[in-house]
Amino acid sequence: MAECAGMNTSLKIASKLPDVGTTIFTVMSELARREGALNLSQGFPDFDGPGYLLERVQHYLTTGHNQYAPMMGVPALRVAIAEKIAALYDCRLDPDTEVTITSGATEALFCAIAAVVNPGDEVIVFDPAYDSYQPVVRLQGGKTLHVPMHPPDYRVDWDSVRDLVSDRTRLIITNTPHNPTGTAWDASDIESLRDIVAGRRIYLLADEVYEHIVFDGREHQSLARHADLFERSFVVSSFGKTYHTTGWKIGYCCAPVELSEEFRRIHQFVTFTSNTPVQLGLADFLSAHPEHHLLLGAFYQRKRDLFCRLLADSPFEFVPSAGTYFQLLDYSKFSNERDSELAVRLTKQAKIASIPVSPFYREDPGHRVLRFCFAKDDETLEQGAAILCGL
Ligand code: GLN
Repeated sequence: MAECAGMNTSLKIASKLPDVGTTIFTVMSELARREGALNLSQGFPDFDGPGYLLERVQHYLTTGHNQYAPMMGVPALRVAIAEKIAALYDCRLDPDTEVTITSGATEALFCAIAAVVNPGDEVIVFDPAYDSYQPVVRLQGGKTLHVPMHPPDYRVDWDSVRDLVSDRTRLIITNTPHNPTGTAWDASDIESLRDIVAGRRIYLLADEVYEHIVFDGREHQSLARHADLFERSFVVSSFGKTYHTTGWKIGYCCAPVELSEEFRRIHQFVTFTSNTPVQLGLADFLSAHPEHHLLLGAFYQRKRDLFCRLLADSPFEFVPSAGTYFQLLDYSKFSNERDSELAVRLTKQAKIASIPVSPFYREDPGHRVLRFCFAKDDETLEQGAAILCGL
């Protein structure tokens, strides 16, 4: 093994992200594992994906479909995605040129940001912002400008966005339904966004990985629904959320042809292509079972309702999530600790792990909330709620 302590100083890396630590999701999941705590922190289901999907992937794994897929993804999967987007959002995409399969939404976010952000460009994000956006913008030499959102409703203050926009603004990153707050945009947010970008050379990156997980009759506000916005958009989603298979890391990016061309120019050198048998299995499942994604909102709404009902007598205050599989719980009635400290203490002492929200802000706003994942079996949710009610 190389001896790092004695490393020649001229070989020391001048980090582009010197202040960035390990992501909070890995930190909290690892702490939960070490402490033997119930893990409601990192967002992943504790149940498997649909049997037919597992069967199809198994089929392709065992029948010789284990070599490279085309760089832009398996054709049948791109066609199935284009059909889904047409049916859901009335957006007609050419699967050959406007849909690209990626290694998770994470890779798609990276490629889209790299495609449009040049040194000196500014990118507007809404805090609390998913943790990958800002570091990737920095890696391109860009700068993020942050618009903070506040509890309990976490609405975007569009006047602040208007004040930040200038000729340097190259990209706005949207995320609805929103992780980590569990809120969702309504039609007025789309109108405000439209008004702001009209006539400007601003691209949009829509992180819509929770597109199928919206509750109480809301309609998902996809940028793919609006031709005038889609012409400047990269719309990103992930099969990990929709099919309970976060470990498979398959996502996709839909974008108009010129944007997709630049996206693919980068994608081919980030990962070249993604897992073949999983793509083939997903293509079969998506065509055979469109009801799965259509019923996903109801599936998770039942879990949200169960979790919230079980917490009715807990010391937390909360507004039930509008989408995603996360529930924020406000603990200000019983603790004045910082959220990062409380999340660690609860993991160690009460044996329940959550995600603090302050790491997703550029400046800690001092909110007293923690994020809990309810993509869990009912028994797990009952166990979790029992711990939380006993605090
Ligand atoms: N998106 C997941 C969450 O919010 C975690 C993804 C990750 O661990 N990078 O918990």
